[in-house]
Amino acid sequence: MAEFTMELNDEQKEVRDWLHGFAADVIRPAAAEWDEREETPWPVIQEAAKVGIYSLDFYAQQYFDPTGLGIPTAMEELFWGDAGIALSIVGTGLAAVGVLANGTEEQIGTWVPQMYGDANDVKLAAFCSSEPDAGSDVASMRTRAVYDEAKDEWVINGTKTWATNGGIANVHVVVAVVDPDLGSKGHASFIVPPNTPGLSQGQKFKKHGIRASHTAEVVLDNVRVPGSCLLGGKEKLDERLARARERAKAGGGERVKNAAMATFEASRPAVGAMAVGTARAAYEVALDYAMTREQFGRPIIDNQGVAFQLAEMRTQIDAARLLVWRASWMAINGKPFTAAEGSMSKLFASETAKKVTAQAIQILGGNGYTREYPVERMHRDSAIYTIFEGTSEIQRLVIARTLSGMPIR
Ligand SMILES: Cc1cc2nc3c(=O)[nH]c(=O)nc-3n(C[C@H](O)[C@H](O)[C@H](O)COP(=O)(O)OP(=O)(O)OC[C@H]3O[C@@H](n4cnc5c(N)ncnc54)[C@H](O)[C@@H]3O)c2cc1C
Repeated sequence: MAEFTMELNDEQKEVRDWLHGFAADVIRPAAAEWDEREETPWPVIQEAAKVGIYSLDFYAQQYFDPTGLGIPTAMEELFWGDAGIALSIVGTGLAAVGVLANGTEEQIGTWVPQMYGDANDVKLAAFCSSEPDAGSDVASMRTRAVYDEAKDEWVINGTKTWATNGGIANVHVVVAVVDPDLGSKGHASFIVPPNTPGLSQGQKFKKHGIRASHTAEVVLDNVRVPGSCLLGGKEKLDERLARARERAKAGGGERVKNAAMATFEASRPAVGAMAVGTARAAYEVALDYAMTREQFGRPIIDNQGVAFQLAEMRTQIDAARLLVWRASWMAINGKPFTAAEGSMSKLFASETAKKVTAQAIQILGGNGYTREYPVERMHRDSAIYTIFEGTSEIQRLVIARTLSGMPIR
């Protein structure tokens, strides 16, 4: 087990500086344009692929860094550049993790490379879990996968919503119900290969923020995928379902639900790190502005009312990063989240990003309210962090349940 450290080693610092350079030179200058266009920034993703940032190798290297600091450092730098573009770059990674975590070696080897493509032919992947009637309440999912034994195929029907890269992805990972009696324990994940008939993009959403990231419905109409597309394989699924049925019979329903929540815990610090990146970006703009903007014959930071806000902003950002780093270190080293530390990090970092970006607008005054300055966009972008991968309310629920052991509603 790696010791917890707050100091990046030389290699990590090199990666951080390299990512920072890409974020400053390539992502940040393109941010306003793609925010206005509300389209996937393909040229920026291609550029990221060329230098190796958009690749499975890079993502895996950060993911398996034993200190746990690889992913948070990468996310913070890329999202410091711009949240919408960064999500377009890392969105595939979120789907790939679904396959890395649940797939067989063969499935990983077959599908993950097709999620990324290569620098000359970049591809994307989408992870489709949320539905119109199943957001926070994942157990209400209706998309159904039925096994056709004669053909060794799964037939999937349903509508997914809010899917990042949904409909434009080469590979979709779709979560569906295989046993409706088991709630979220009756779900399984499937690969939907490129160009599979029956999968189509529904509505593309026009959003408040992260507008460079494509978000859309995905409609599954009698989508047939080979048996080999069930992540983890049929044997493992049958064993898992049998165990869940046993536990449900023994009255362990609530425990089952909590166990499902615990799995989400591990990915939440990564979202916290994205929020830290956006918050830090807005804070830096505000600090610089406060030191150069003069009113009443002196820089506005000369006023305690402004200076204290900046002190508060920086303190909250550093505290958020520490929570994120702690949770990331725990996750990679298999330390159980006995106080829902993953949720804590996401809750605190995402609320911090919303607060800090709003304070940045205030410090920039009228300029902060315009699209001439980036803090207005950063504030719009920051609102997503308290919503996706579990809203702030759901994080509080998870923390309270974990601390109390009670089924708090
Ligand atoms: C831009 C964007 C990208 C996304 N990307 C993806 C993706 O790639 N794949 C994917 O599967 N999903 C994705 N999502 C979906 C996201 O995870 C959901 O929006 C989120 O889980 C919330 O679900 P909901 O929108 O249905 O809100 P609801 O669950 O309807 O919640 C509405 C409000 O009620 C509150 N609430 C609900 N239940 C409780 C409770 N028990 N206690 C207290 N408050 C409660 C919530 O906190 C929230 O404030 C994305 C969403 C957005 C906006």
